[in-house]
Amino acid sequence: MAILKVARLGHPILREVSRPVAPEELSTPEVQGFIDDLVDTMREYDGAGLAAPQVHNPVRICLIEVDGNPRYPDFPQIPLTCLVNPEITFLTDQQLRVWEGCLSVPDLRGLVPRCAKIRVVATDRHGEGIDFVAEGIFAAIVQHECDHLDGNLFVDRVQDTKTLSFIKEFQRYRADEPHVVTD
Ligand code: ZN
Repeated sequence: MAILKVARLGHPILREVSRPVAPEELSTPEVQGFIDDLVDTMREYDGAGLAAPQVHNPVRICLIEVDGNPRYPDFPQIPLTCLVNPEITFLTDQQLRVWEGCLSVPDLRGLVPRCAKIRVVATDRHGEGIDFVAEGIFAAIVQHECDHLDGNLFVDRVQDTKTLSFIKEFQRYRADEPHVVTD
């Protein structure tokens, strides 16, 4: 087990397009050990997700998990999901607006529009095919994590920069607002 160092806003690796992971590479102890460390790092810092480039490894692997997360107390529970080489298809024009944060943009929150319903095709950490439909917060987190694999951060997608807030001020002045706004 190792806790990996998280790259912060301004580090060029967060702006790279990550490379796909080949099936034969996925089965190596190195990559499996890296995924274990990615899980440990996400949990150590109370992330709702984490993408490999955030820990300085530009490969197309990301995680999602919500289990009583103190940074997002009102998020629904989402079991640990590992996506390798994920592809997203938007299934609706309906949008959510989600108060997002990111371990690479410490302490900041902003309101981000996301597609309300997506299809996700990927493999799991063992190379088995995954194909599912995600809605709501789950869909938003998948989009946030997959954005990292293309060098995009949530702050790029904040439409109204006046919504940007530090977490402490967010909790003080916007605590009563729902985490997800449906238009
Ligand atoms: Zn992030």
